Formats: sequence, structure tokens, C-alpha cells
Amino acid sequence: QFESIGFIGLGNMGSRMANNLIKAGYKVVVHDVNYNVMKMFSDMGVSTKETPFEVAEASDVVITMLPSSSNVMDVYTGPNGLLRVGNLLSPRLLIDSSTIDPQTSRNLSMAVSNFILKQKKDHWENPVMLDAPVSGGVLAAEAGSLTFMIGGSEDAYLAAKPLLLTMGKNTIYCGGAGTGSAAKICNNLAMGVSMLGVSEALALGQSLGIAAGTLTKIFNSSSARCWSSDTYNPVPGVMEGVPSSRDYTGGFASKLMAKDLDLAAAAAKKIDLKCPLSSQAQEIYTEVCKDGHDIKDFSCVFRHYYSGKDE
Ligand code: NAD
Repeated sequence: QFESIGFIGLGNMGSRMANNLIKAGYKVVVHDVNYNVMKMFSDMGVSTKETPFEVAEASDVVITMLPSSSNVMDVYTGPNGLLRVGNLLSPRLLIDSSTIDPQTSRNLSMAVSNFILKQKKDHWENPVMLDAPVSGGVLAAEAGSLTFMIGGSEDAYLAAKPLLLTMGKNTIYCGGAGTGSAAKICNNLAMGVSMLGVSEALALGQSLGIAAGTLTKIFNSSSARCWSSDTYNPVPGVMEGVPSSRDYTGGFASKLMAKDLDLAAAAAKKIDLKCPLSSQAQEIYTEVCKDGHDIKDFSCVFRHYYSGKDE
């Protein structure tokens, strides 16, 4: 039931998600602060807008896919943001798919409801913002097979579902505002820690004389089996078609993993929950970034176990 979709943030993920919306026949308008990506889209005949405010004016739904919480805040509440005073707020749904902290998602959802109550009192009663971060990475964004985890009103989720399914293959409703963002950082916390566990065990095994391929076979038919061992193995040469087999390029950057672990550690601290593995994993991935591997895939953390060993 939505026709025009505004898309803000056309980076590695957003450009591919927007393309899938275009392929599905939606009328898409886009905005990004990067001139080059705006040009790429306008060369394809897609309508580009100079500000989020102009995107809002032209869209039934606005989707944001931005690096961090502060970028999302800017796009929503900045001077020419989606919630600019005087905006009639034509969109019926605002969907943020960025990975950001759950508290910011909740604050934004509240800001949207307050704004709507003030601007269009007769029309809107319920909040219409959803936090809908994704799992799956660039390949899944390209293939339209992302998993969306959604927080916000259930009615809004049901309305958004067909649209989300043009960019993904799974949508999972998590509960009220901020629960999608919470689910995302918990998923990445588990993924970051399990990648470390598998890397550490394979590095130790190799050093004790067991080939990584043999140990992987054992893990994958034993209780250590997990995504990091059987789908995204971190040791070069053990699996084909994964970042470790191409010098850790073309995957999920270590700096993004470090960012997501920062979010998890900060969320845990806020509620006084002890999460020692988050903090330790956060330190390790931050070191990997400092060592110059920030844009390499996060599975390069395997090499961290050998860093400084043979120099
Ligand atoms: P990216 O850095 O490639 O793209 C972000 C885009 O946002 C850039 O084009 C940038 O110019 C634009 N941008 C930044 N600030 C802006 C602003 N104020 N207004 C308009 N545009 C702005 O990032 P990405 O890899 O596409 O990731 C986007 C989000 O998705 C992040 O939160 C990331 O954690 C999450 N994510 C990424 C992956 C992945 O594999 N890359 C997977 C799942 C989730």
C-alpha cells in the first residue's frame, strides 16, 4: 500500500537495499551526504534530494541506513531533518535500519510520536517509527535476503512487512521501540565472541600440531559447531568463498564489529549487567583495528593470535 519510498544512507548496505526497492517497482527518492553516490543514483534516473526534509516531503515511507546513532539523530532532528518544524510529515512510516544503540531508537520513537501528535493531531494516534536493523551483510543486501529484526508498534510492523520483504527474506517482530536494535547488538555480540572462541581454539590446535581443516571437521560434527566454524571459517584455505580465503576482504569490517561491541558494552553498563566477554571482545577487535585491519573482515581476528609471533 506504499508507493513512494525515501532512502537515506546509500553506502555498502543502503545502496543495495535501495536498488532492490527500485527493482520491485517502488518509486524511490534518495539522499546521502556523499556526492558520488548521489550522482551514481541520479545517473540511474533515480530522484535525488538535498536534505532529509525534502525526502520526507516526497515519501510515504522513509528508510534510513546510516553508520551510527549520531548520524541517525542528525537525519531525524537536524535543521533540515525529517522532523523539521513545519514539516507536514507526509510519510506514514519511518524505518531506521541502522545498527544503533537501543536507547537512541527509543528516544527517536518517542520524538516521532510527540512530533506527530503536535503536527497532525487528528490523523495519527500511534507512533509510526520502527527500528529495523538487519543481519546478513553486503551479499545478503544485494541478494535481497537480509533478516530484519523489528521494534515498535506491531501494526506498523505488519504494514511494513511486505516492503521489508523486498529487501530481505526474514522479518522478526521483537516487541516495543528499541527491541529491534537490542536484538541486533545481542546477535553481533554472540557472533563476535563465537568468532573469537573458534579463532582461539583453531590457533591453539594448530600450535599443538592439528591442522585447522581437521580440527574444523571435528568441530563441525561435534559440540563446538557454530556459524563461525561451519559457514564463515576464519582460517585461510579451510573454506572457499569466505573472507578468510581472499585475504579477509569483502565481508563485515572489524571496525563495524568493534562499533557493535561498543554498543553492547555500553548498553550492559547502563543497566549494570556484568558482560565480561563483551568488554574483552570489544578490546580485542579495537586492537585489531588499531593494528591497521579496521576495514578487513572481522574474521581476521584469527591472525591476531599470531601477531608479533614470527616477526
Ligand atoms: P557505509 O559507511 O558503507 O554507508 C553509510 C552511508 O551513510 C554512507 O554513504 C554515508 O555517506 C551516509 N551518511 C552518513 N551520514 C549521513 C547523513 N548525516 N546524512 C545522509 N547520509 C549519511 O555503512 P554500511 O556498511 O552501509 O552500514 C550501514 C549500517 O548498517 C551501519 O549501522 C552498520 O553497522 C549496519 N550494518 C552493516 C552491515 C555490513 O555488512 N556492512 C551488516 C549489517 C548491518
